[in-house]
Amino acid sequence: MTFYVTTPIYYANSLPHLGHLYTMIVADTIARSKRQKGIETYFLTGTDEHGINIERAAEKSGRTPKEQADYVVSYYKKMTAEFGLDTAHGGYDIFMRTTEPFHYQGASELWRRCAKAKTPKGNDAIYKGHYEGWFCAACAEYKTEDEYQKPKTEGAPPTCLIHDIALDRVSEDGYFFRLSDYDEALLSVYESQPDFVRPESRRNEVISFVKGGLQDLSISRLKTSVSWGVPVPDDPEHTMYVWFEALINYITAIGFGNEEREKIVGFEKFWPALHLVGKDILRFHAVYWPAFLLAAGIELPRAIVAHGMWLDPNGRKMSKTLGNTIELDVLQQHFNVDAIRYFVLREMVFGQDGRFGYEGLIDRANSDLASGLGNLSSRTLTMIARYSEGRIPARQIAEDKLLFAKRTGVDTDETTVAGFIELARDQYLQQFEALNFSRALEVAWSIVARIDKIITDAKPWDLAKDENQKQTLDAILYRSAEAIRWLSVMLFPIMPQACTAIWNQLGLKATPGTHDPAKLIWGELEEGTTIGEVKPIFPRIDKNKVMSEITSGTETQQKPHATAADAVDNAQPKTETPTPTPVHHATEADAVGVTSFIEIGDFAKVDLRVGQVLSAERVPKADKLLLLKIDIGEAEPRQVLAGIAQYYEPEKLINRKVVIVANLKPRKLRGFESQGMVVAASYGEEGRPVIATFTEDVPNGARLK
Ligand SMILES: [Zn+2]
Repeated sequence: MTFYVTTPIYYANSLPHLGHLYTMIVADTIARSKRQKGIETYFLTGTDEHGINIERAAEKSGRTPKEQADYVVSYYKKMTAEFGLDTAHGGYDIFMRTTEPFHYQGASELWRRCAKAKTPKGNDAIYKGHYEGWFCAACAEYKTEDEYQKPKTEGAPPTCLIHDIALDRVSEDGYFFRLSDYDEALLSVYESQPDFVRPESRRNEVISFVKGGLQDLSISRLKTSVSWGVPVPDDPEHTMYVWFEALINYITAIGFGNEEREKIVGFEKFWPALHLVGKDILRFHAVYWPAFLLAAGIELPRAIVAHGMWLDPNGRKMSKTLGNTIELDVLQQHFNVDAIRYFVLREMVFGQDGRFGYEGLIDRANSDLASGLGNLSSRTLTMIARYSEGRIPARQIAEDKLLFAKRTGVDTDETTVAGFIELARDQYLQQFEALNFSRALEVAWSIVARIDKIITDAKPWDLAKDENQKQTLDAILYRSAEAIRWLSVMLFPIMPQACTAIWNQLGLKATPGTHDPAKLIWGELEEGTTIGEVKPIFPRIDKNKVMSEITSGTETQQKPHATAADAVDNAQPKTETPTPTPVHHATEADAVGVTSFIEIGDFAKVDLRVGQVLSAERVPKADKLLLLKIDIGEAEPRQVLAGIAQYYEPEKLINRKVVIVANLKPRKLRGFESQGMVVAASYGEEGRPVIATFTEDVPNGARLK
């Protein structure tokens, strides 16, 4: 079995940005998941390097068109290396360039086949005619009346709706592809293969576009107008239209039309492909490309999958003039590659637009990775080091110790947790296969939460004090370690570096990248395995520090280029890149603190305990209050009300370590009894609360003194 996945090849007239990075991450994730299953996989990305826009950019910068393309490609290569997406990091198999000689050969071969072909309605698929119309060089696309802005002054050319630049008037003889004859053939493809265009909403869009009637496509330019391109076979006065030729890269890259290339990769072996595209270029991939292939008698792609666009945190389009773009060098400088991969796959619901802000990325990395998966892994391994001499402990509780285990409330039947994780794994893989990465990750994190809860409930630090509970403790740690092994295999395609690090810390060899998650069997983690050195996988990101670095970095970068538009934008309140919050304001409490001292005995009267938030919810009709259940190492969790609802999302508090005044006299608030108080700093005029917490792992119930 083989698999072939492609990103679009990116037009070499601009430098790589977030959208490019995103599609590559998705393709890379899919490719790694296929390889993990032992499927021979080919992953293509690259650049589309012909056309009038490259020719013009080259002229402007005093380069040849090829040099111009090389220049842009060097940025792509740098980007893919930095983000671990290139061949050296186990990413793409080819960075395809349409300036490759084998591409010229293959593109010519496809043209010839189309030129010989008849349409389903019996006409010549390619014919010569005269084209009159408007063309956007930046889009490399002909524009119909509803696709351009009519000029304000008479006689001026219309402008592109996307680029706001003047369109070129084209009036010349050239070749046409008889697309109008392919409407029924295409509709029957969409009909018989409902998964051909995904998601459903995009499929419907494509169907209604085709049903609206198809126009024939101009597929060549006179060489005198555009010389930078692949010559039309047997008629070198014409150059192939860049889109017609560029799409063909998907088959020339793997050997179509070139024997040598066929031997190295194999068109027969890998075709058909899964094409990942942005929704803005869906028509080219879901309508034009299949029509060309139908004409040439070549099998259609496996599927065309269109993803949404990245918007800023307020749901606005990202643009240089708005100053709300996400810069790749900022991402690269401040963030872990796997955290970025996790964020984009978790945050964008398949097929819909997603929102991307640096703050959101930090919040997710801290809550899901540092406090979630990273914390689960490090607390488990630390306890194995401490309580089990650094070896994976035994999983079974012997007959004579079962009663002790049951007394602690631990589920002695291991199959309960194994069953839960197997089911979660199956659901995860199902969602992953459907490319619903966001949903898949939610499912995976239900495993993290479940295991966290098992640990919190079992209180290993207490079990460690009782010789009769040694086996209970071992069983809990085994379950946790085994769950982490499963997670590192499941999540490997999404976070290859982090999952390999977790895998190695468990004492396992090589990488989880060769283990099929569908074939994981509970209990295969060998007892007695010596674990590796325990190191934090996802260090906590200091949000204030990083945000202020990003903000000051962008300011110094932007100032020299400030334009009128920027100035206007800067005058408005910034939401994406706030000024760093003041860390400390002197308050009344400070003043009291310095002037009136207390005895140590006074302090000892206050029983401060470490707790962990098990649940958090809003209190009806009290917009400031949250109702928390906090584990402070007692038999029952404490119910505590805290006036922090305006500053903390309840779900973000789950599993958070906090400090509780445990011996505060219980009091009733809004009908609920509050059995303690959460300690928080208070600052600013509004008295904004900031919950006290720990950066190191502390057991619940530990006393502060
Ligand atoms: Zn345009």
